[in-house]
Amino acid sequence: MAGKQDLHPVGGLRLGHVTGSPVYVTPSWFLFAIIFSLAVGPRVDSIEPGLGAWKYLAGFAFAVVLLASILIHEAAHTIAAQRLGYETGPIVLHFLGGHSTMLAESRRPRDQFIVGVVGPLASLAIAGVGFLGFLGHPTGLIRAAVWELAGANLIVGAFNLLPGLPLDGGLVLRSGLWALTKNAATATRIAAWCGRLLAILVLLVPFALSVANIYEVSTVNSVLFALVALTMWTSASSALGRTHRDAILNRMADIHVRDLTRRTLTVPDDLPLAEAVRRAHEAEAGSIVTVTADGRPLGIVHEGALAATPQDRRPWLATSTVTRALTPGLTVPADIGVVDLLKLMQAEPSTEYLALEADGSICGVVSAADVDAAFRQSAQ
Ligand SMILES: [Zn+2]
Repeated sequence: MAGKQDLHPVGGLRLGHVTGSPVYVTPSWFLFAIIFSLAVGPRVDSIEPGLGAWKYLAGFAFAVVLLASILIHEAAHTIAAQRLGYETGPIVLHFLGGHSTMLAESRRPRDQFIVGVVGPLASLAIAGVGFLGFLGHPTGLIRAAVWELAGANLIVGAFNLLPGLPLDGGLVLRSGLWALTKNAATATRIAAWCGRLLAILVLLVPFALSVANIYEVSTVNSVLFALVALTMWTSASSALGRTHRDAILNRMADIHVRDLTRRTLTVPDDLPLAEAVRRAHEAEAGSIVTVTADGRPLGIVHEGALAATPQDRRPWLATSTVTRALTPGLTVPADIGVVDLLKLMQAEPSTEYLALEADGSICGVVSAADVDAAFRQSAQ
């Protein structure tokens, strides 16, 4: 089960939906299914000779059955999350398995535990049904299919229970640590580091087995192990990155736009630039705003444009020649937090913004550089 942050634009074939969440199969699965069919074909032939080219279709059919079992695993996550009152996003099935999406963070450890654990339990249940079916002494291809389906789901269920993010076991571990420490960020950090450790182990397993002469892992399987390890490492790392970013945002939560504004000098917009700069120095103002005769703000002096204007030209130019005209996107409320300011800045990128009091009067100018500096300071 992935978080909202892992939500990529989905490509692939839309199969339908599970209680409102769309289900997609990516092209990588089709590639996997073709390779799988070609690899399984000879085995089908040895169990049920004489099928000819149909043996590949039997292989493909089995790949579809495996896909269905992954879908059941992901649907379990999705349905559990919905039952607990969370909005869910798409289910995506790909060559390494699949993932489902919750559109919000878990509100409490118990929810996270349930949503995380039901996926592997569903896989283990399919494995159980497969093994039970095997007791009925099926023959031929059915026997092989039931056996392999049970084995594959046993591996999927057990592997996903390993305690490290992004695996389901990592969610379970995180929920336990969260309940224990009462600190979601600490829980994520530990579970993500366990995930990184597991990723290294997954990478090393084929080598270890070969070196110890226990089992010779084929090159194809070694590559698969490496891919799984890489995916796990990247996901665990992005979980760590998110907690780091959240920690910075937490530290920034108490800073408001007003705390970052520079002292601002207001001047008529036809005032010679040299005079505006002289007055700003005198008033120790870090920014200049042009206003109408009745005090309504017109524009913010752009620092870059000012710096690019030669000293000897400044007495002959109006201040308005180096201002950026105030559009609604360039004014921000002085009382909002800096995190909300960031959103406004992303919507309308600029180097300076004018902070206004609730009554519309000027509070001061916020420069993007000052906001950057505040974030850098909080990141240390
Ligand atoms: Zn899962």
